Amino acid sequence: MSTLRIHQTFQPVTHQRGDKPFSGDALLIDGQLFSPLLPDELRDLPVPPQGASEDEKLVYEAKFNQRARWRLTRHAGPDEDGATRWRCPFCSGLLRSRSFPKTMRRSRMAPLVETEAECCCSGILTAMPIELPWWQSITFGTTAWRISMARRQVVESANSALKGAAFVSLNRGFFRIMGWSRNCPARVHSGRLQPGPRPVPQGQARPDDDAQGRREAQAAPARRRSGTWAELTKSGPAPPPT
Ligand SMILES: [Zn+2]
Repeated sequence: MSTLRIHQTFQPVTHQRGDKPFSGDALLIDGQLFSPLLPDELRDLPVPPQGASEDEKLVYEAKFNQRARWRLTRHAGPDEDGATRWRCPFCSGLLRSRSFPKTMRRSRMAPLVETEAECCCSGILTAMPIELPWWQSITFGTTAWRISMARRQVVESANSALKGAAFVSLNRGFFRIMGWSRNCPARVHSGRLQPGPRPVPQGQARPDDDAQGRREAQAAPARRRSGTWAELTKSGPAPPPT
């Protein structure tokens, strides 16, 4: 999906939430990159309980909306490897601070925050796609994210209605159709099928031919990056939840 530049909005499951290790000078929380200067009280945020009213949801979302101002914004990419480049919220104008005088010349629409740091960042940061599997273009937990999720649910309800009175559980790998009391054994194609071995054209040596293999190994250029789209596609990553 990312390869095709298609963004999606989804509800992260428990193991995708929280603070995850990230190699660069940033925090990776709930799938999104944030400035390392993000205040502690905004790092671990609860989501509204099921059945919460609109007003209750807004109370919870206020924290997520506030936190979204601390996110890194995409500066460039993805390039052919899927690498993306990210700017800190002070450099991109999402936040201002008296600690960073250049930010004070920015629009007053950007909230003014307190920070003790001497500089806002160490420059543009590069991330590989393998590091950001749960990134969403609309920051998780915000009011904008809920509106986007609601749109998605409308589409999914319509899709479901088109299938008739069918109940479909893709996660469990089977259908239950037209009120049958037993599960139909139809397997759902989960998109995890691995491609078979490539056919070898006539007249060419098989790749497992020793001499050929050695020549190929010598001729192969050094790998510049890891965690690229090409690698991800080969290794068959767990697809994001739909
Ligand atoms: Zn910066």
